[in-house]
Amino acid sequence: MKTCSICGKKYEGYGNNAQPVNDGRCCDKCNVLIVVPRRMQDAKNKKEEFDNGNQNV
Ligand SMILES: [Zn+2]
Repeated sequence: MKTCSICGKKYEGYGNNAQPVNDGRCCDKCNVLIVVPRRMQDAKNKKEEFDNGNQNV
């Protein structure tokens, strides 16, 4: 059993990379509810930065 670095609950299996939320590993539930949406948001922010940067070239 491992401990989820986000919710602190025990989980079985490999777990998931919790970045960019934190540097640890997390359970499937936190991955789906927190980590994946956060990654989507970060990707969206990055794309907006890229788009804005392109307008200045
Ligand atoms: Zn969790």
